Amino acid sequence: MIQIKICPYCSSEFPSNINSRKYCTKKCAELALKRRRNKPEKCLCQWCGQVFTAKRKKKFCNFNCQHTYMSKLGKIQMKVTKIPVKITINDVARESKKEGLTYGRYVSLKKIQ
Ligand SMILES: [Zn+2]
Ligand SMILES: [Zn+2]
Repeated sequence: MIQIKICPYCSSEFPSNINSRKYCTKKCAELALKRRRNKPEKCLCQWCGQVFTAKRKKKFCNFNCQHTYMSKLGKIQMKVTKIPVKITINDVARESKKEGLTYGRYVSLKKIQ
């Protein structure tokens, strides 16, 4: 069945018997695709919260925001990282005394190297 369709790109009418066909010509389809690709994307800056437009999806409105965000994040991550608790010989000696064990016995019991 032939239908009359309207090309979304150039708005001209064209007969089509293929339902999936959207544009009057291949050229229109290509141009429409191109235009869609170049359409500016609305983005929200992850750092300052400003809405901005970019050619493609971006997380930050400018380099400054990205840089600040990254350095802040780096600092937070550094704070979170736990410093491994070092057991010193003095600690072991003190603990072993507390439990009434010899140093050697305490170490073998707790498997401290
Ligand atoms: Zn067209
Ligand atoms: Zn920003």
